[in-house]
Amino acid sequence: MKIEKTSFNKYVEENVFRTINEYNLINQNEKIMIGVSGGKDSILTLHMLHNYRLKNDMDFEIKAVCIDEGIEGYREEGIKTAKENCKKLDIPLTVYSFKEEWGYPLDDIHDVYKSTCMPCGVYRRYLLNKISDKENCDKIATGHNMDDEIQSFLMTFARNDQNKFPKFTPILDKIHENMTPRIKPLWKLPEKDVGIWCVINDIPIHDEECPYSVTSLRSEVKMFLNDIEEKKKGTKESIFRSFEKTFTIKQEKVRLNTCELCGQPTAKSPCKACEITKEIKSIIIH
Ligand code: SF4
Repeated sequence: MKIEKTSFNKYVEENVFRTINEYNLINQNEKIMIGVSGGKDSILTLHMLHNYRLKNDMDFEIKAVCIDEGIEGYREEGIKTAKENCKKLDIPLTVYSFKEEWGYPLDDIHDVYKSTCMPCGVYRRYLLNKISDKENCDKIATGHNMDDEIQSFLMTFARNDQNKFPKFTPILDKIHENMTPRIKPLWKLPEKDVGIWCVINDIPIHDEECPYSVTSLRSEVKMFLNDIEEKKKGTKESIFRSFEKTFTIKQEKVRLNTCELCGQPTAKSPCKACEITKEIKSIIIH
């Protein structure tokens, strides 16, 4: 199938800009931090926010942060592409690592839990929030696309975790004084279109799979959804529309506490990052 570059770019930009405008994701004079891994989703988010600022003649600050989990032979390439794209767009980028924060890379603790993605996700979310709070950022923009949201949605059912339902929106409110609201500009953009955009525009991206992704429930849910979509086109979009209409649980109902050990926002204290750090240290030090 031949894709016409100009009209495809227009479609992608309109899709993302519409989400930003409809949900009021960005305001004048805000400081927006983007979590950039070097993968296609975060790279598209970076370019879209840059274009949005230019084309709407807006004045807001963009800074990029790359988290180095410590996955040898994998993360280095992502950092390289993140740097390349940030340099091209003249966006400042800072790299923070698990090793600096906790004293060990992900590679050293990958087999402590059944899924490596669990500690990785907990640490990454923790670090992004801590950095954004320290740097007085107004929002954290992430590269979650429509497929990611559908996967997360089905995963909450699989885990009977209704507490996560309020997270299915393109913007998460500030529900704790140290919590930076998250925005998801690609919320309504299918994953395949993110990939096509990067290819037809010759954008450097890191498109390898993380070696630990096979251990995650997400990767199984992703395969399951792709399989159904292959057989019945439009299934993903239908699931997305259903949860968009059905789940209107107000975020105000969810209030966060403060971790007694680190002071970061948490549902219950101590926070998950402090809890797993204690467990991990007791295993790797003994
Ligand atoms: Fe971390 Fe899992 Fe993502 Fe790899 S796939 S970077 S382990 S969350």
